[in-house]
Amino acid sequence: MGDLSLKFPKWVQLQGVPLRRVVGVSWPAPADRHNRGVSKPKNKPRRPAAVTPTSPCPCGRAEAYRDCCAPFHEGRAAAPTAERLMRSRYSAFAVGDTGYLLRTWHPSTRPGSLALEPAQRWTGLDILGTTGGSAFHAEGTVEFRAHYSLHGHADSQYENSRFVRENGQWVYLDALPAA
Ligand SMILES: [Zn+2]
Repeated sequence: MGDLSLKFPKWVQLQGVPLRRVVGVSWPAPADRHNRGVSKPKNKPRRPAAVTPTSPCPCGRAEAYRDCCAPFHEGRAAAPTAERLMRSRYSAFAVGDTGYLLRTWHPSTRPGSLALEPAQRWTGLDILGTTGGSAFHAEGTVEFRAHYSLHGHADSQYENSRFVRENGQWVYLDALPAA
């Protein structure tokens, strides 16, 4: 791990196992990293359930995808708050929009590329808390738990993310260390 010059966020699994930190590309850590040691998948990878324009938005707000996160993903609008950006990034994971994830990542921490685990299905997002991040702030944090299933196992990932404005638009910076 000493070869990582950038300070990448650390994932902490809180599923009743000892705290385990994963150093690597930020949220979500590649499934094979945090799933290592768990029994081998029994099922073939499945594509995530399709999200259509009229589907409930994956981010959990009470709006259809087309009225919620799709305008952000399609570049027709910018997320007005850090929380909306966080939610739209979660939705981007759900719909497999890696371009949006990279676009909304601060240049100083953005990975060169991003490969999503096709078998990972994102099943829900809980926003646990926020600081700053409004139209009147230049920084903000969003603490969340992202739920998913992978090869039949339900799991979740926790992160307290930092967001900053870059050229006026909210971008993801990194994860704060677990308290
Ligand atoms: Zn949404």
